[in-house]
Amino acid sequence: MTIITRFAPSPTGYLHIGGARTALFNYYFAKHNKGKFLLRIEDTDQERSSQEAIDAILESMKWLGLNWDQDVVFQSKCQKRHTQIAADLYKQGKAYYCQCPKEQLQEMRETAMKEGRQPGYDGRCRDKGHTTGALRLRTPDEGSVNIEDEIQGKVTIQNDHIDDMVILRSDGTPTYMLSVVVDDHDMGITHIVRGDDHLTNAFRQYHLYSAMGWTMPTMAHMPLIHGQDGAKLSKRHGALGAETYRDMGFLPEAMRNYLLRLGWGYGDEEIISDARATELFTLDRIGKSPSRFDLKKLEHLNAHYIRESDNDRLLKMITPLMDEKLGKSLSDTQKSWILQGMDGLKQRAKTLIELADNAAFYAYDLPIEIRDEKAEKFADTESRSIIKNLIGDLENLNEWTHDSLHTVAKEYSEKQDLKLVKIAQPIRVALTGTTVSPGVFDVLEIFGKEESLKRLKDFAR
Ligand code: GLU
Repeated sequence: MTIITRFAPSPTGYLHIGGARTALFNYYFAKHNKGKFLLRIEDTDQERSSQEAIDAILESMKWLGLNWDQDVVFQSKCQKRHTQIAADLYKQGKAYYCQCPKEQLQEMRETAMKEGRQPGYDGRCRDKGHTTGALRLRTPDEGSVNIEDEIQGKVTIQNDHIDDMVILRSDGTPTYMLSVVVDDHDMGITHIVRGDDHLTNAFRQYHLYSAMGWTMPTMAHMPLIHGQDGAKLSKRHGALGAETYRDMGFLPEAMRNYLLRLGWGYGDEEIISDARATELFTLDRIGKSPSRFDLKKLEHLNAHYIRESDNDRLLKMITPLMDEKLGKSLSDTQKSWILQGMDGLKQRAKTLIELADNAAFYAYDLPIEIRDEKAEKFADTESRSIIKNLIGDLENLNEWTHDSLHTVAKEYSEKQDLKLVKIAQPIRVALTGTTVSPGVFDVLEIFGKEESLKRLKDFAR
């Protein structure tokens, strides 16, 4: 049997963290089983759906590398088929028309609540033989439904808790519950992995599957994500759209690794590559209790993936950020300096934004602005005169390498009876405007003699 999973977002907003995780789990589960991962946009609620949201969801999915198989299925395009199925159920006597006005349904609900019963439709139109109205599925009053959920285990609900749900509204449009079941069946979905907020729907869907004589896909309802404080995740906790994380400078592979670990685990492995996740992903490793969203962990993983990342790729990713920050386009020379310095830069960046910030000095124009108080301390008259004196030695240097530069500075410090840091820090400030940067002799080597002396002379002026 080919395993076929799906992600079925309603396009009413961006792809949020919970949705992205659901998509990821379905993706890995399909990949692990050499199956298929399909995407269905549940756009039946035309009023709440928007093209903008559809675009945002597709873009985020692509950014996250959650490549789906086959064409995207748009639920709204399958409406005819949904209506057809409803008509079949009616013909077979498994569904009936109900003409109860809204107020009556409301009254029914209130009375049931007052009497301590489950609120719901009481089936009064079942045998009235109406031929118009809202179409309801006839569901059993007795017995119970058992679902063997891959995560929750065996879950049972008494049938008297499930009322005869509407499958076609009185205007003839199919309801969400009907559409989901028909589409999942038609798409050949074998496994449904989704948030446990859909667990009660599963019982209703069960009755639709049995009325149609279809096999229900295997269900796996996973606990929702909570914030650090244990409350259900909301915007306040960082439940932002996936594209916001991209804009915050997170790498897609860090995001995937983070989302994977948010509810799924393999021993105490924290860093899990795509290949490893594909190799290991089974549903029995999904946790039963809610996981907590933790931005620090995400940053930690991101720092790891930045370090692991190819330098050219990093340069490509930070170039637009730097252009925007500096208000100019990086020149080819500046790009090559950054590329040469990338090994040092990427050791200290948690996000691409930080990486771009840390790389900015390579592209500064003269005069180099002194950027903070600490740097001010190394831009005093004493420091400037140290640099002035050093320039002579540097000008005579033929071989402009880390080691030869280090030797010149060291010899100078010994001659003047100064600590090396008394020389290194002013050089750093002259080159970068700050006291934090990659190794100062590395930076000198990367800039080369001409640019280095230009910056040092301007500083010593
Ligand atoms: N469209 C539903 C949602 O966005 C998901 C339905 C399902 O997975 O069955 O919550």
